[in-house]
Amino acid sequence: MTGIQSKDLRVILTGGARGIGAAAAQTLAKAGARVMITDILDEEGRALADELGANVLYRRLDVTNASEWQAAVDEAEKAFGQLNALFNNAGILSLGSVADCTPEGFRRVIDVNLTGIFLGMRAAVPALRRAGGGVIVNTSSTAGLQGYGGLAAYVASKWGVRGLTKAAALDLAPDAIRVISLHPGPIRTPMTEGMSDEVVASQPIPRFGEPEEVARMVVFLLTDASFSTGSEFVIDGGAVTGQVLPL
Ligand code: NAD
Repeated sequence: MTGIQSKDLRVILTGGARGIGAAAAQTLAKAGARVMITDILDEEGRALADELGANVLYRRLDVTNASEWQAAVDEAEKAFGQLNALFNNAGILSLGSVADCTPEGFRRVIDVNLTGIFLGMRAAVPALRRAGGGVIVNTSSTAGLQGYGGLAAYVASKWGVRGLTKAAALDLAPDAIRVISLHPGPIRTPMTEGMSDEVVASQPIPRFGEPEEVARMVVFLLTDASFSTGSEFVIDGGAVTGQVLPL
């Protein structure tokens, strides 16, 4: 497996209208990739694609919808000639302990954060095979590496993404398709709006990360990380490094 150069990337990214996805779209476009931004926020997504120029297009894609996935893959292949990369970034955060989550709320988070990624890989893999191989980055979280109180559904979904990524990496290695999980800690985006600095105060790097910092890692994972598959890439200011004991 060799790395794909950024100018040769033909990528679909989900949840690209804002936050980490928008920063990734920007960074990828700047690096010469051809990018299909998808989201359910049509106005923001379209405006961003227009701003980023001719190599970037927008299409509505609700990641929980299998037929919308198929249509997006078909359109990307047609527009770009091929599809060789997928950044599964869309996700939702929902608060609630195991006792507080409603069944509907729990299922919704699993549906978007985990089933959405399954549907995306399922739709994109035939196209990636036709391209002769490719790369998939699936967004998990530090919540896919450890537990957090009051976030039962989110933690379950993100551990699921981590596991699904490993299964997919094994399944798809014969097709020269790498599959990586991405584990951000607290990043300053609309998702974390309103969270206080207390959330990050005990981290070795005690600040929120910037979406652009994650975007640069995403470009690396899609291109030069040519010897990595099934692995976890953490970008969290050291949040899951451990704990300083009061000795
Ligand atoms: P965000 O809320 O700013 O952006 C998420 C995007 O996903 C939005 O544009 C939203 O419209 C889109 N989206 C939501 N549901 C969708 C659906 N059903 N179909 C298609 N698009 C949908 O969030 P963000 O902070 O940029 O997060 C991006 C990813 O990173 C998420 O998977 C999130 O769980 C993960 N993450 C974020 C942080 C953080 O601190 N911000 C930390 C760890 C992991």
